[in-house]
Amino acid sequence: MHPTQRFPLNVAGDFYVVEGLCIACKAPEHEAPELMAHARAADGVYHCYFRRQPRTEEELQRAVMAVAVGCCGAVRYGGSDPATIQTLTQLGAGGACDIRTAE
Ligand code: SF4
Repeated sequence: MHPTQRFPLNVAGDFYVVEGLCIACKAPEHEAPELMAHARAADGVYHCYFRRQPRTEEELQRAVMAVAVGCCGAVRYGGSDPATIQTLTQLGAGGACDIRTAE
């Protein structure tokens, strides 16, 4: 199990945002507005999260881009799909995958 704690408003699934790291860049929500939203965290600070998981290939690509543009490392992929992990690695976001493959 990965040690990071998910922001509680994330819907269950492979894509998620870690709680407490947000500095309100808003970039991931711009990439995948249909999948993400934001809320005020307990400390009153903006926090993005996944309100829905991708259901189509196009949405998957948007979710991948949301992870890739996340400025703080909080937007992550916790799934095990090798193609998604490879794409994220190629985008320089391999560190945002809970499961790493050989690079
Ligand atoms: S990527 Fe990080 S800093 Fe940017 S909105 Fe999401 S949680 Fe906040």
